[in-house]
Amino acid sequence: MTHAKTKGTHCKFCTKSIERFEPVVVCKDHKKVQGRTFTRFMRFHPACWLEQGMVYLSKHPPVVKSGRPRLQLSSVDKVERTRLLRRHAVLMSLYRAHSEAGRLVIAVEYYLKAFALCEKIEPLGGVPKAWRVVEIVKEESSAGTGD
Ligand SMILES: [Zn+2]
Repeated sequence: MTHAKTKGTHCKFCTKSIERFEPVVVCKDHKKVQGRTFTRFMRFHPACWLEQGMVYLSKHPPVVKSGRPRLQLSSVDKVERTRLLRRHAVLMSLYRAHSEAGRLVIAVEYYLKAFALCEKIEPLGGVPKAWRVVEIVKEESSAGTGD
């Protein structure tokens, strides 16, 4: 918002003239025509600028699409998926605890149990990305011993 520097400009919204030193809102409008960008200045009375903003908003209602896309699951499946997610987290924490303590046989047992959950969760919205790390680790370790 600034004071109008010259007289003879017109408000884009109400088309009435804006007098010199009157408060004015100046908007830039970039238009691309055949690769060249043209900048057009639009001037508004402050009240008109607010008004045109409200008109614009009423023509463009809010679109709800915040956050990650939600899975389309029935409530029963959702509960089951959450149960599997929790079970996986528990098993992986046990796996980490045992492998850090050097009890590798027990650790691997928990690891395999956690990995087996992939099969169960696949029809319930797919295997979560965080679980994929588990798969990569497994592929690497099996590839290392195989070759
Ligand atoms: Zn106006």
